[in-house]
Amino acid sequence: MIQIFTKTNELKKHLTQLKNGGKIIGFAPTMGALHNGHLSLIAQSNNQCDITASSIFVNPTQFDNKEDLVKYPDTTRKDITILDAKGTDILYLPTVEEVYPDGTKPTIDFDFGYLTTIAEGAYRAGHFEGVAQIVSILLDIVTPHKIFMGQKDFQQCALVHQLIRFKQIDTEIVVCPIIREADGLAMSSRNMRLGDQEREKAIILSQALQWVKKNYANANIADLEEQAKTMINETEFCKADYIEIRDRTTLKPIADNSIKDNVVVLGAAYVGTVRLIDNMIIF
Ligand code: AMP
Repeated sequence: MIQIFTKTNELKKHLTQLKNGGKIIGFAPTMGALHNGHLSLIAQSNNQCDITASSIFVNPTQFDNKEDLVKYPDTTRKDITILDAKGTDILYLPTVEEVYPDGTKPTIDFDFGYLTTIAEGAYRAGHFEGVAQIVSILLDIVTPHKIFMGQKDFQQCALVHQLIRFKQIDTEIVVCPIIREADGLAMSSRNMRLGDQEREKAIILSQALQWVKKNYANANIADLEEQAKTMINETEFCKADYIEIRDRTTLKPIADNSIKDNVVVLGAAYVGTVRLIDNMIIF
């Protein structure tokens, strides 16, 4: 039976007892509106750890667009039932005041430099500062042995890797594969906001990334990125923010397509008013 904690102190006390008893703690933080992508993180944690903890917290500090925050889907009661059914042991379900007793001002002292200036960072001012802030707070509270995160948010995973290095903690980050709908659309809580016709067209983002992967050897990097954006922009309701081919570790641009190791293509596009991200590993 899932145990729900709204108070940080009570959660910490419970986790300390479990850790003192030798339990390995896995943690999968979420913003709720759960789908099979989230549940794949829970499943991996259940496989690798004794205790699976999750959190549902829509973190206000990572939303550069306040309308996106207001419209973020809230299905908490259903989420709890699903988490329970999937064998989650602990759910942290705090209020904003509980997480930010001193207010939601930026508090992160770490400088992520380049990582936060490109791709999502370039389009969403302050987003990664907010992500780093909340993940840092959650890591301090839960101190898990492993944190489970989705490759869907590729740049976020890179940031959390760096955050863990900065904090010099022993938590291991486990990056889990992207779970997709049958037609290839990456699962996302934001997909719920797509109208029927938009939902149909939204597959162009994953198709454009797939096209880049398939044609990587046949064109130069700039042309691949440009043509993938054109594919998206020529689709009804859709507008590309970026398509970028990058090194999987440093996220630096790839000089040319003779590089056949450690390459990813990252993409973001609007479908109607809903902004979606996706990525595909090329090598
Ligand atoms: P979110 O609730 O969007 O903050 O996501 C919580 C966690 O679930 C993050 O680590 C995401 O990367 C992960 N996640 C979201 N969508 C997917 C997906 N389609 N496949 C795998 N993991 C995902």
